[in-house]
Amino acid sequence: MGLSKTAAVIGAGMAGLTAAAHLAQAGWGVTLFDKGRKPGGRMATRSQDGFMFNHGCQFASAHDAGFRAALIANHAEIWPATGDKFSGKPSIALLAASLAAGLNIKLGTHVSFLARQDAGWRLYLHNAAITPPSLVEPHGELSPAFDAVILAIPAPQAAALLAAIDHPFAVKLAKVHLAPCWALMLGFAGAAPGPDIVKPTSGPLSWIARENSRPGAAPTPVSYTTHASAAWSAAHLEHPADEVIATLSAAFVQATRITAPATFASVHRWRYALADAPLGEDCLWDPQQQLGLCGDWCLAGKLEAAYLSGRSLGIRLTA
Ligand SMILES: Cc1cc2nc3c(=O)[nH]c(=O)nc-3n(C[C@H](O)[C@H](O)[C@H](O)COP(=O)(O)OP(=O)(O)OC[C@H]3O[C@@H](n4cnc5c(N)ncnc54)[C@H](O)[C@@H]3O)c2cc1C
Repeated sequence: MGLSKTAAVIGAGMAGLTAAAHLAQAGWGVTLFDKGRKPGGRMATRSQDGFMFNHGCQFASAHDAGFRAALIANHAEIWPATGDKFSGKPSIALLAASLAAGLNIKLGTHVSFLARQDAGWRLYLHNAAITPPSLVEPHGELSPAFDAVILAIPAPQAAALLAAIDHPFAVKLAKVHLAPCWALMLGFAGAAPGPDIVKPTSGPLSWIARENSRPGAAPTPVSYTTHASAAWSAAHLEHPADEVIATLSAAFVQATRITAPATFASVHRWRYALADAPLGEDCLWDPQQQLGLCGDWCLAGKLEAAYLSGRSLGIRLTA
């Protein structure tokens, strides 16, 4: 019996985890690399001062039967406040951790350059805590060689890695756009709960959710995750965090009528949040170079799109 094929998957968000699981199931030796401290990417949860904030992806629509089954099997459940959408139960980090279980993941590892050698693909690896994320040049610790490499990272970051090795996919990615999103997290120790979900149609905010309304969430302390609209986020992308907190907090009070002072306030800036100009192909695969790309941005700015893209690429490689 021949040796099993190997793949390096860069990015342990929904797309990378799904592709990796598919390959591992088919007998490939798979190693995931992610610069984050936890797997999940935009499936992100912050726990601080007793509060829980799912400050990235809010919920998932599940039209595909396989995706629905994957959600149900991995700590997700219908979130009644949304009607028929799924939430992590109660945190999306649990969904990510459950999907990641059993996979070989090198966390805190930033991949800054791809090198195609006779033996296969080798990656230049850095400690993400001390490497400037924009670095795209060949230095750092070299990984072992892999037969195939998969980039499961936002299109602009993939394009930078591909441009550095003159791969033609870099050009295809230029038309893809992901809109940014400022997320505001507010905690109210001792306060009474307000509305579950508000979707403001004017002002800077587009989404307000009471974290305690998620399935399985603790009823207290009251905590809210809110998102600024794509237009407001883009216009204020480089503004200082304290200014963003002040403006969005004022909009929050106006939208919810919650006047109790927040005892915790923080913001997170998602530079690449929602794909508003996707590629329009489910994934990209170069069989000559054994290089593939997947991610939500292939299809749509949705968690389900990331799953479908990762699954398509996994099927492509194992067909
Ligand atoms: C604020 C916000 C709200 C959202 N709301 C919803 C919603 O309600 N419903 C919905 O369906 N979708 C929502 N989404 C979108 C959803 O989160 C994404 O579609 C999905 O999570 C994308 O998964 P992915 O695997 O394609 O990418 P990501 O989750 O971005 O994963 C990419 C991973 O690659 C890693 N990475 C990047 N570059 C490198 C590198 N060079 N080296 C190592 N690692 C690297 C990153 O750390 C990250 O973990 C939201 C997203 C955001 C940000």
